[in-house]
Amino acid sequence: MPLYACDLHVHIGRSASGRAVKITAARDLTFENIAIECAQRKGIEMVGVIDCASPPVISDIEALIESGDMVPQQGGGLRYKEAVTVILGAEFETREPRGGLSHHLSYFAKLDDLKGFSEAIGKLVTNRELSSQQCGLPARQLLSLALQHHALFVPAHCFTPHRSIYGACGRRASDVFGDAWEQIPAIELGLSADSYLADRIAELDDRTFLSNSDAHSLPRIAREYNILDLQAPTFEELTMALWRQQGRRVVANFGLDPRLGKYHRTFCEECEFIAAAPPPVFACERCDSRKVTLGVLDRIVQIADYDEPQIPDHRGPYQYQIPLQFVPGVGAVALNKLINAFGSEMAVLHNATQRELGQTVGTKIARLIVQAREGKLPLQVGGGGRYGKALIEDNGQVSLPGL
Ligand SMILES: [Zn+2]
Ligand SMILES: [Zn+2]
Repeated sequence: MPLYACDLHVHIGRSASGRAVKITAARDLTFENIAIECAQRKGIEMVGVIDCASPPVISDIEALIESGDMVPQQGGGLRYKEAVTVILGAEFETREPRGGLSHHLSYFAKLDDLKGFSEAIGKLVTNRELSSQQCGLPARQLLSLALQHHALFVPAHCFTPHRSIYGACGRRASDVFGDAWEQIPAIELGLSADSYLADRIAELDDRTFLSNSDAHSLPRIAREYNILDLQAPTFEELTMALWRQQGRRVVANFGLDPRLGKYHRTFCEECEFIAAAPPPVFACERCDSRKVTLGVLDRIVQIADYDEPQIPDHRGPYQYQIPLQFVPGVGAVALNKLINAFGSEMAVLHNATQRELGQTVGTKIARLIVQAREGKLPLQVGGGGRYGKALIEDNGQVSLPGL
């Protein structure tokens, strides 16, 4: 079966008419621009757009179907110019009865399913036009509502503090969802975790892991993605892959080294120190404050069943990649040159030789891209909402790019 590169968590900034959908997302992040970016620059063949329940976005989708630019497929999903399949999705925030917020992704085969779900959820949220709204339901009830509209349901960025199942709601997803946990085929790891960390939790043994970008701007699409083995790039095949049916499956995850994620280690809200001691860290090592944002690594170690990851046979490899945006010295100009020369960011990151890269952007940047590919760039760990950074090593001295 053919392999497809899929990023299943991309936000929309504005509708085509200019209405805000996600305030913090870039203005040019429209439904159609996402499809173009995936098809022409990123090499992504299936993209989950997760702000589709917003009525102005539904209007955009209807206009694109009418014009023939998007074609509903037999097995679900919309095909854009024969190049990329768009999966219609929605992200909503839930609240547990005893507190605890979390985010969840629902994906829909057909526009009618999405519209029905949008109507129903519209009665629960303050502003249906905006992304990731609080719906006032516990996670289990959102799941049940989504399933009524034939959704595929995936808890989002599962370990992040503040808004996730393991980060904010409980030690076990099966406690939060009860019996309904069996209706969930997959979880999203989030940027600050990888398979090796998540495979320290026993109840995740039989779940599929997704690594998605959670992009709020076009360049960040595909900073994490999944390789799926599918017969065709459709919603039905995606569903089978998450349940691992008839050979369909996630073959590999590509993602950031979790140390680059925004919440990898515990962060002190008083003195802004990012923990360096062995996890779990619950109080600041520098100023003793307990006013901290717990890191994803710290949380996983706190709740882990296993000291070492127990990797099930069905799990594919988790490949680290440092997106070009994180490579020191790669600005917008170099990024464009590279994508024009090699066809997609993926080709630059994984296939181009150092020599070929050097001919396009000079030897210094070429060397850094290759060092990043080989995992040789030293990293500064992220925490408390601040991304980690790749550092440049110069004569044994480590320095931050631009400082
Ligand atoms: Zn979210
Ligand atoms: Zn401190």
